[in-house]
Amino acid sequence: MSQVRTRIAPSPTGFLHLGTARTALFSWAYARHHGGQFVLRIEDTDVARSTQDSVEQILASMHWLGLEYDEGPIYQMQRLERYQAVAQQLIAEGKAYYCYCTPEELDAMREGQKARGEKTGYDGRWRPGPGKSLPAIPVGVKPVIRFANPKEGDVVWNDLVKGTISINNREIDDLIIVRPDGVPTYNFAVVVDDWDMQITHVFRGDEHVNNTPWQINLFRALGAPLPAFGHVPIILGDDGLKLSKRRGAVSVTAYEEAGYLPEAMLNYLARLGWSHGDDEIFSREQLVSWFDGSHLTKSPAQWDAAKLEWVNGQYIKAADDARLAALVKPRLEKRGLAVPAAAPLPAMCALFKDRCSTLEALAEWLAMFFGPVQASEADQAQHLTEPARAALQDLAVALKDAEWTPAGTAAAMKSVLAARGLKMPQLAIPLRVLACGRSQTPAIDQVLALFDREILMTRLQSA
Ligand code: GLU
Repeated sequence: MSQVRTRIAPSPTGFLHLGTARTALFSWAYARHHGGQFVLRIEDTDVARSTQDSVEQILASMHWLGLEYDEGPIYQMQRLERYQAVAQQLIAEGKAYYCYCTPEELDAMREGQKARGEKTGYDGRWRPGPGKSLPAIPVGVKPVIRFANPKEGDVVWNDLVKGTISINNREIDDLIIVRPDGVPTYNFAVVVDDWDMQITHVFRGDEHVNNTPWQINLFRALGAPLPAFGHVPIILGDDGLKLSKRRGAVSVTAYEEAGYLPEAMLNYLARLGWSHGDDEIFSREQLVSWFDGSHLTKSPAQWDAAKLEWVNGQYIKAADDARLAALVKPRLEKRGLAVPAAAPLPAMCALFKDRCSTLEALAEWLAMFFGPVQASEADQAQHLTEPARAALQDLAVALKDAEWTPAGTAAAMKSVLAARGLKMPQLAIPLRVLACGRSQTPAIDQVLALFDREILMTRLQSA
């Protein structure tokens, strides 16, 4: 087999969509698996909706996910001359033609077809043919270029995901390949690009499966080698409907902001529509070594926010504490908290990461070390009783000279318990409520030793 070359071809009209990220991931993993190349192409021919800002967001998300490409970004709008040249070549060979139908005419055509109960579509009135006389060229109408689709035969391909697909050419009308302003349409640009970029395998969303017969006919008309196609099923939201912006986060950026780790995201996305036995947690390297294009599922994938959170939690637990510290610090600062350089952030992460499924949850916990806390009224009323407050005052004193380790803070607590004849929970729970703003935490002696001594003592003195 020739060198495997795959590509991802996002349209820069927003953030990197989860569906596109998943296709990018499959394309990337497939190329890496085969020691091939992965190309990034920016499909920016929808000039009104494409923005540079979106390109940058997409590049940033690809980078964040670690989907490094070998070539690109290649911008379609910088290749207009090439598409024009190919369109002219097709015209010269009688495989494409100018069509001067106005939008009104096309509407009337469709209405007429509907009224007669016929299938709607372009009726081929400008398509040249032996002995056929074409309409007179109207003045002031800029033509489109249409592809003269074969009229006979079937388009058949063996889809890497869906198996054999066959469409009769009678079902397909003559596609517009160049608009009146000279900009190519998606189906045409994609073929010229996949040909020029020597793409061997196209993975893309299911929504393009109806475009593929046109594209295959175009490849053939150009005498270009046909890539293999794999149409990946759509992702359904938790509610069973197509994943959509209106019903929740659909961009990679949104998950990055919500505190997901890139490797967790990659792992979860890979499992949406692909499997390797029962494996749920696997590394990037494992994915690359396993991803050979098989085991892609035909049925729609179901987005499962709870599962993604679980996967993320697994990665957070396993993550290096210094790395977590570096990731959580800006999240604390974003909350307006100052994190002193001497703060033992890695140790804090080590203590709390087991109970966090996102970096935001981790930041939520660690915030208590750097800024004021406020327990619920119910917790305060229940736990900050008079005797408890008195014990907490004593503890402030005992902590003043304590060794600042879990053993040291535990010894200070024990001295207060002994002096006041209290049991551990009678001190530990009010202490958590006052110092941490909640009644449950990991081992309290460990939590205390992570506080800045001054901050903790001030909190206790306020009892
Ligand atoms: N720009 C198209 C999209 O974002 C690319 C489809 C393809 O991969 O051919 O859906």
